[in-house]
Amino acid sequence: MLFPEKKLGFGLMRLPLTDDGVIDLTRVCRMVDEFLAAGFTYFDTAYGYHEGKSEPTVRKALVERHPRDAFTLATKLPAWFLKGPESVQQIFDEQLERTGAGYFDYYLLHAVDSENVRIYDRYDCWNWALRMRREGRIRHFGFSFHDTAAVLDELLTKHPEVDFVQLQLNYLDWDNELVQSAACYETAARHGVPVVVMEPVKGGTLATLPEDAAKILRDYAPGASLPSWAIRFCASLDNVKMVLSGMSNEAQLSDNLRTMSDFHPLTEEERELLRRAADKLRDLAMVPCTACRYCEEGCPQGIHIPDLIRCLNHRKVYGKSGDLKERYQQFAAQGAPASACIGCGQCEGVCPQHLPVPEILRETAEAFEG
Ligand code: SF4
Ligand code: SF4
Repeated sequence: MLFPEKKLGFGLMRLPLTDDGVIDLTRVCRMVDEFLAAGFTYFDTAYGYHEGKSEPTVRKALVERHPRDAFTLATKLPAWFLKGPESVQQIFDEQLERTGAGYFDYYLLHAVDSENVRIYDRYDCWNWALRMRREGRIRHFGFSFHDTAAVLDELLTKHPEVDFVQLQLNYLDWDNELVQSAACYETAARHGVPVVVMEPVKGGTLATLPEDAAKILRDYAPGASLPSWAIRFCASLDNVKMVLSGMSNEAQLSDNLRTMSDFHPLTEEERELLRRAADKLRDLAMVPCTACRYCEEGCPQGIHIPDLIRCLNHRKVYGKSGDLKERYQQFAAQGAPASACIGCGQCEGVCPQHLPVPEILRETAEAFEG
């Protein structure tokens, strides 16, 4: 079987932190144990998650504490760290060393788009990955993807060897012309390539909805959390074989386990309710930032970009509030205020959502610094 039967994967990109800002290993160990005890087995990390600390955490919390056949592990090759053809193997060997996993059940070229693909092509990463698969160091090979359906179609035509593709799907972006969730999903299905979903809750955006949108869902199912709707939307799609959720605390883990242990696909009536909730959200013109943080490391001003964008989005949903301004000021103090942006464009170049970040930060500065 290509994928485990249970469709929930543990994303290891937003792990719980201690007050000192380091990964809280004790809590991660407990969460990993609970996830496995509930019968789920899929874990997803990447070379760059938590500035390189996620993979070593996988070793301590998972690999050294559980039999290798009790879990499956996915990780990713980062185009932006590749310095030459020899660095491909070097990074892969380092990943094996960091995780201690011996082999990777799933290995992906990370964040493929029409820019990054040139780097993967230049260093012949596709054939290299096939060799790793033949040698048993990779069990299944795929790529995570952030571009249009036309680019995906081209890639899957050129690379019929890939076993799966990882896509951003969520009910809000399903028909979004920029993200093209539905079109990408259909393209993968047409090529017979199974889909792993990333960001089903859209970096937390779909976990807190404006009251009129939340009410639609709450009135129908008072006990169901808002993230559970988002996860069920993705898991209900036939060609989706795994839904990743980046779990940061025990409450999120328990909620996800509840949703997916006794999974019920969405009914047509429920799908319609989600369409109505999404319409309400779209009316607010929220910034579709997924909080992936790819933009943050290279910002010469040290701006905590997604945190400031989240403040702007909260303002659109809930209006002005004293608390929100305080939170904004805290994020600004930890990094820099939105007005510190010098418009260098680094962030726009790496943003998988192709967001006009400097423009958004101007709007954020106007909202909070006036
Ligand atoms: S454009 Fe602004 S926010 Fe983006 S990297 Fe440059 S300074 Fe930072
Ligand atoms: S602005 Fe773009 S790159 Fe930065 S966190 Fe948001 S989605 Fe990610």
